[in-house]
Amino acid sequence: MWRAILLTAIPLLLLGLINPSSENAYLSGERRELFKEIERELERYDFFKRENNEYEKKEDDNDENASVIDDEDVDPDDPDMQLLLSMGVVENGVLKHPEGLHPEESKRVKAEGLYRTIETEEEKDKEGEPGREKRKKRNFGPNWPNWPKGIVPFVIDSSLVANRKYFLQAVELFHNLTCIRWKPRSPEVEAEVGHKGYTLVRNRTSCSSGVGFSGDGEHIINLMEPGCGSVGVAVHEMLHRIGQRHEHTRSDRDRYVQIRWDRIDQKNQYNYHRRLTYNRNPYDIGSIMQYGYGAGHAVELRDKNLLFLVFPSNQLLSFYDIKDVLDQYDCTAHCKTPQRCQNEGYVNAECKCTCPMGFTGTTCETIITDPDCGGFVQLQETDPSLKRDKYITVTSPNYPGPVGQGKICRWAIKAPAGYIIKMTIDDLHMAYNPDTLRCYHWLEIQYNLPGQPGVRRCGDIVGEKFFTSVDSPTLMIVTMDTKFAGHKASHKGFKLHFEKEREGIHCSNAP
Ligand SMILES: [Zn+2]
Repeated sequence: MWRAILLTAIPLLLLGLINPSSENAYLSGERRELFKEIERELERYDFFKRENNEYEKKEDDNDENASVIDDEDVDPDDPDMQLLLSMGVVENGVLKHPEGLHPEESKRVKAEGLYRTIETEEEKDKEGEPGREKRKKRNFGPNWPNWPKGIVPFVIDSSLVANRKYFLQAVELFHNLTCIRWKPRSPEVEAEVGHKGYTLVRNRTSCSSGVGFSGDGEHIINLMEPGCGSVGVAVHEMLHRIGQRHEHTRSDRDRYVQIRWDRIDQKNQYNYHRRLTYNRNPYDIGSIMQYGYGAGHAVELRDKNLLFLVFPSNQLLSFYDIKDVLDQYDCTAHCKTPQRCQNEGYVNAECKCTCPMGFTGTTCETIITDPDCGGFVQLQETDPSLKRDKYITVTSPNYPGPVGQGKICRWAIKAPAGYIIKMTIDDLHMAYNPDTLRCYHWLEIQYNLPGQPGVRRCGDIVGEKFFTSVDSPTLMIVTMDTKFAGHKASHKGFKLHFEKEREGIHCSNAP
C-alpha cells in the first residue's frame, strides 16, 4: 500500500525537482524512461520495509525463500544476501557459516574498490597531528561545515547519464528520511540559501566526493560510469558531501575495527586515517559509510560475528546513519513537543518516533511478536538477601516439542542501568540445510545494537553465550523465526537463560 503511494508520488516529485530551464534538463522522452527505471529500482530496494511488516514479502513466498536457503549459488546481489551472511549453523559443536556465497562479487561491494574521498588543503586533521586533540568532542566532525538551511543546490553534469537515476533516487531517500533537501540550482534557490555554492554531479574516474560545504562555487561528486551505478554508492558520496566521514575513520574506531595498513596502497591510506569526529551515535558497523568486504579487506572487525553487517544492506541508510544526519542538521528543532521514544527509538524529522526493527507504537513501546509468545523480560535489581542472582529462562513455544511453523516470537530483555546482559543458549535445535549450511528456521540475537540486525543461529547448540555491548548494555532482543521458510518441518526449539552482570567484566563477544 505504502509502496503504491510512493511509486505514484515519486515521478511527480522528481518532475518538480528537475529544473527544465537548466542546461542539463532532460529531454521528455528520456525523462519518461528515467522514471520507469526509477520505479523498477524502487521495487528492488523496498525503502519502506521498516514501516511495513518486515515479513510481508517473506510470508508471501515460502518456496522462493527456501530456494535461497537451498540453492548452491546465490546471486551476489540477491536482496537476502545480508540475511544469509548473518547465519551461523552449529553442527557437532562447531560453528559453520553458509557456503556458496560470494559477497565480494556484488555490484555494490565492487564499487567500494572505486571509492575515493577528495581531500582539500583545509583538512589537516589527520591522525597524530598535534594540537588538535583538545577539539575532539564526541562521523560528522568540527571541520566539515553544514550546508546552510540543510539545502544542497545541485547541477547534474551532461556527462552523467546512466547514473542519474541513482543520484535522483538518493535525493528522494534523503527527502523521505531526513530534513536534507537537494534542490536543482536556480536563482530562487540561491536566494533562499544566501550563497552561490552548489554540488556538481558528474561522470569521472571514481566514486568520490569532497566532505562538507566550503562556500561559493562548485562542490564535486563523481559517479563514474560504469562502476558507481547503485543508489547505495550515490548515498555514500552524498553523505560525504553533506559532511559525513567514513565510519572506520571515527576517532573511536580502534575499539571496533583494526586497520590493516599492510593491505592498503600508499596512495589510498588517507581514506583510513582517523579523524576528529563527534560520535554522537554508537559506532555502526552497518553504516553505509563503513568499508568492508571490498577494498582488499583492509578494515577488520574486532567482533567477527558481525561481519555480515558490513555487506551493504537494502536499507541503504542505516538506523544510525539517519540519526547522525538528523542530529547534525538539527532536523527535529521544529518539533514542539517531541515524543519520548522508548527502546532506543529516536525522534525523526517528522517529529515521530523511528523505532528499531521489532518495535512499533507512538513511542516504540510495543514489541512486534506473535500473540502467544515473546514479550518484555525485565531483569531486576539484585536482592541483597539472595546469595546468587536469579536468572530468567525463556523457552520457545511448546518446548521441548516441535516449535511449529510460520511463527515470529520476539523477546526484549532489559537490565537495570549499570549492568550488561548475558544470554546463555542452554539448548537449541532449529532446522537447517546441511549441504548449504544455511538456516530454514533461526534465532536472531541482537546483542550489539538494537538498531542493527542480529546474528542468526540454527543447528544444534549447547552453551553458547552472548553479551550486550557497552554501547547498548541494557537491551538485548532475540527473535525466533520459523516463518521465512515456513513450510519446513520444525525442530524442538530452544531454552535460553538471561542474567545481568556488572558492566566492565566482559569486553567483547569475540575472542
Ligand atoms: Zn567514501
